[in-house]
Amino acid sequence: MTMPYSTIAQLAKGLQDGSFSSRELTQDVIADIKARDQHYNSFISLSEDQALAQADAADARIAAGSAAPMTGIPMAHKDLFCTQGVRTTAGSKILDNFVPPYESTVSQLFLDAGAVSVGKTNLDEFAMGSSNESSFYGAVHNPWDLNAVPGGSSGGSAAAVAAGFVAGATGTDTGGSIRQPAAFCNLTGIRPTYGRVSRFGIIAYASSLDQAGPMTHTAEDAALMLNVMAQFDPQDSTSAQVETPDYTTSLNDSLAGLKIGVPTEFFEAGLAAGVAEATMAAIKQYEAMGAEIVDISLPNLKLSIPAYYVIAPSEASSNLSRYDGVRYGYRCDDPADLMDMYCRSRAEGFGEEVKRRIMVGTYALSEGFYDAYYVKAQRIRRMIKDDYARAFEQVDVIMGPVTPTPAFDIGSHSKDPVAMYLEDIYTLSINLAGIPAMSTPAGFVNGRPVGLHIMGNYFSEAKLLNIAHKLQQVTDWHLQQPQSL
Ligand code: GLN
Repeated sequence: MTMPYSTIAQLAKGLQDGSFSSRELTQDVIADIKARDQHYNSFISLSEDQALAQADAADARIAAGSAAPMTGIPMAHKDLFCTQGVRTTAGSKILDNFVPPYESTVSQLFLDAGAVSVGKTNLDEFAMGSSNESSFYGAVHNPWDLNAVPGGSSGGSAAAVAAGFVAGATGTDTGGSIRQPAAFCNLTGIRPTYGRVSRFGIIAYASSLDQAGPMTHTAEDAALMLNVMAQFDPQDSTSAQVETPDYTTSLNDSLAGLKIGVPTEFFEAGLAAGVAEATMAAIKQYEAMGAEIVDISLPNLKLSIPAYYVIAPSEASSNLSRYDGVRYGYRCDDPADLMDMYCRSRAEGFGEEVKRRIMVGTYALSEGFYDAYYVKAQRIRRMIKDDYARAFEQVDVIMGPVTPTPAFDIGSHSKDPVAMYLEDIYTLSINLAGIPAMSTPAGFVNGRPVGLHIMGNYFSEAKLLNIAHKLQQVTDWHLQQPQSL
């Protein structure tokens, strides 16, 4: 009964009309992952027993007529969301043995909605990366081309959906980690406004930039998942007290009169010709729907890379100081004294990229360098935010490419961290400004997917999903399936 490439909406219908039970569906999904995931390495842990118990509870709820739209739907969480009683690693050796005593708000909201969590997906260590190669649990392979990266850091979630294991998975996006893997794996992925989704129980990378969101085949499914996720949470001090609309009700709204800004800086040197063409072709489709295309400028875009790669490591160096071998996580063998335990636990527990970021961040925050690096980066952050504010006085949304190239080959950037950081040129500024943005499928270059980047003003998630949904009504990129299946 395996149903790869079904959408959440289709599965919900099958569950409702009794075509299959959540238990049958969940058993199939788990069997499918066990049979095929050696090709992709998209999961770090499966939680079979818990999933089947959740499925049974969902079947009872459906039978009782009290099902919510996600009830009984198998899904997966990036292994950065703490799940009570289910190992949560952040892709790091330092948390290899960590079983959280509590549940993240996002995963709890999905449990409350009756969704079934089948397991935890692979990611770059502590969500630091753009390729999923920095995971302690090995690289993830892109279902569209097994030699290609799936993107990162939510590469396991992206591959799990693109491989057809689950119809939806959670991701987090600190600098592009939902949108870039969604683009590389032909998915719909939305990074909501900072504060829209609770960060409580999500292992922190850079707290002023981190935000969780859904990764799915369709905009409709992303709306269904965001309906569950986007709730005010008193346990997160930066959670927004903004009413949550029903994101599914505006999906078909007309786009007549919509003003789409296209920043010249998104189409300058460095953008692969095939990606530029696919992106422009997708943008042109909106003209036929009554939208107007306006050239705009985001003059400080280039500064987003240096600013982000000072701010994110600075916050990370502070957040990651808690992994000291004392409270939880990895502890080295036979420490000589306390200092030796700190040093060796961290030296042995963290991978290379994480150590690089801790060192960069510690340096940027140290006395004498703080003003020169951290404060300057914060000023640039403000300039970037102001660029977007000016743009949104002129236009309703902004469109462009998500990434400069389609998915690159595994191993091609892993020796050159700066080349890897440059991959984030179109995504980072969104996180610095705190605004929402998404990727929706826009075609293929040499068999590898390309995403269209749709960016909006604060709390415009419903509009973004509406815009993506409209494109998905006139194109079928999002329905294509990889040949590796
Ligand atoms: N590639 C960026 C980084 O390495 C973004 C990662 C993310 O969004 N989690 O920091």
